[in-house]
Amino acid sequence: MSEDVQNAAERKMQFLYHLRSKGVTDARVLNAMESIDRGPFVKGIFTDRAYEDMPLPIACGQTISQPSVVGLMSQALNISARDTVLEVGTGSGYQAAILAKLARRVYTIDRHRRLVREAREIFDALDLHNITAITGDGSFGLPDQAPFDRIIVTAAAEDPPGPLLAQLKVGGIMVVPVGQSDTVQSLIRVHKTEDGLEYDELRDVRFVPLLEGLGKDS
Ligand code: SAH
Repeated sequence: MSEDVQNAAERKMQFLYHLRSKGVTDARVLNAMESIDRGPFVKGIFTDRAYEDMPLPIACGQTISQPSVVGLMSQALNISARDTVLEVGTGSGYQAAILAKLARRVYTIDRHRRLVREAREIFDALDLHNITAITGDGSFGLPDQAPFDRIIVTAAAEDPPGPLLAQLKVGGIMVVPVGQSDTVQSLIRVHKTEDGLEYDELRDVRFVPLLEGLGKDS
């Protein structure tokens, strides 16, 4: 085995070991995270830090989430292979790529056209053909494709957006960071049942804010 291949294999093992130590224990999620390399989603001077468990800057002043948080959010969604998932906040596309390994179909939406374009290029290069990436204000969801089995919001809202709750199926699960943007937020899981909405709080997180309208470049 060449030194490079061996280093890459060791790096991957360490990455997965670390995810487990942070509570990512679901085998399907770990398999998905093993098969999707975070490297291509991190560009420029930060590429050599792609395997560290930290958020990193991406274009348009946004961030790619921390891998352990991506793992925990994916796990909290309890996705089945038949599910249709909506992600609000495409960013680098990393979370959407993991979701694409777990679900039947993934719709992901971002307010920055450039991020959507760059994410699409990576999805194509990785042969991930079950993701549709769309430019738009995701606070309103995607009424044409609704309802969804699962919804994940990867930007912090002051409250779970009403249109997203409305577009969740009965029996569905939504995960969303809630709180002011410049402080610690709470990751909330919402179960939609026949009787209404049930909320539980998963952990503290820190995400960029969910903003209104399209990004300046869009
Ligand atoms: N899930 C991403 C990280 C997302 S960072 C990843 O895996 O890399 C949060 C993203 O939410 C940013 O790209 C930001 O542009 C986007 N965003 C913020 N408000 C939004 C809105 N109203 N609609 C759609 N996207 C939004």
